[in-house]
Amino acid sequence: MNGDLAGQTRELFSEYVMPTYAPLLVFERGEGAYLYDTEKRRYLDFACGISVCNLGHCHPKVTAAICEQAGKLVHVSNLYMNTVMPKLAAKLASFGFDGKVFFCNSGSEANEGMIKLARKWGNPQGKNRIVCMENSFHGRTLAALAATGRAKYRKGFEPDMPGFSFVPFNDFDALKNAIAGDVCAVLLEPLQGEGGIIPADLEYLKKVRALCDEMGVLLLFDEVQCGMGRLGTLFAHQTFGVKPDAFSMAKALANGFPMGAFMVAREYADTLTVGSHASTFGGTALAAAAALATLDAIETEHVLDNVKKQSEYLFSGLRRIVAPYGFVKAVRGRGLMIGVVLDVPAVGLQKILFDYDLITLTAGETVLRLLPPLNVSREQCDMALAAIEKGLADFAAQRKEQEK
Ligand SMILES: *Cc1c(COP(=O)(O)O)cnc(C)c1O
Repeated sequence: MNGDLAGQTRELFSEYVMPTYAPLLVFERGEGAYLYDTEKRRYLDFACGISVCNLGHCHPKVTAAICEQAGKLVHVSNLYMNTVMPKLAAKLASFGFDGKVFFCNSGSEANEGMIKLARKWGNPQGKNRIVCMENSFHGRTLAALAATGRAKYRKGFEPDMPGFSFVPFNDFDALKNAIAGDVCAVLLEPLQGEGGIIPADLEYLKKVRALCDEMGVLLLFDEVQCGMGRLGTLFAHQTFGVKPDAFSMAKALANGFPMGAFMVAREYADTLTVGSHASTFGGTALAAAAALATLDAIETEHVLDNVKKQSEYLFSGLRRIVAPYGFVKAVRGRGLMIGVVLDVPAVGLQKILFDYDLITLTAGETVLRLLPPLNVSREQCDMALAAIEKGLADFAAQRKEQEK
């Protein structure tokens, strides 16, 4: 065996790593939809990081692209050009959004850039406030945090950065009333992830688009979690048929290699000019090669078709297995971004599922969040459904015990 690699790893972690996370398991290897712990126990991964390794772990095409590019050119700074990054920008546009891209390294950084773009565009017109949604999540850097509509994330880090206000999600009248002359943009997740897998209503989004056009306000989408094919279209907004003026992406963009980006419609594409925004690591040849290989695999392996197919299968299977349990309030989401809504915190069920070798996540306390790989197979969906069916039975038994 491995000695006690897991124990040693936990010891090093608690001694030397800041306690900002409380990780539940230790993994050593990943392959496709599976993760292996230090005892070689195999888990089916319905989390993909947090919608990061969307093509499964160590996808051979992405791994090959990273290895090849790492031996050729890694970084030259953005004062010079590499041959890969502009190709990636064009490739992203080819999926149906005519505009320009800024590359960075994370979701927070992508949202920061998008916020800066909106202010740079709005300030000459005397407007710089951004209306955001309650229950939203946009990242941990200070501006992204100020745009995040859950106070618990901001607690202790006051003062909040000014220039953001909040309205309830999916409430059109509230948004309409919030848009005054000082507003430059509306920012929302088309499908709220951390907040509990809550999709925007289609009619709501269409009305928001029309309102923004009418009021001369930019519409910004945070697609960091729900983008990159997760909903069955490459860009999340394509699932809703509503086009934002700019949108951010990150997480799955390079299938686990760190990369963020935001795209802006051609009309606003030259708002950020030379010297006005920058990132040392943004768009390195290495990250761009990983992202290009990811997009290539999504196309050539017909991944988006698979999302639609397995989504239907999982939703109907889940609705069937949760039916006997009154404590399950709903199964909701889109594509392969699925929430099982409970009437109590979901972490108990999440932990039971480890016993059945299934990795899941929670969202917004009471939601069990399922983010399977986008190339998940029918058999793997059946494995997950069987595990959840058993897990729900155990969870129900546990509740009965506690009621006694
Ligand atoms: C994860 C996430 C972010 C933050 O991304 P980081 O890469 O952790 O900075 C922002 N917005 C949404 C919707 C996310 O899910």
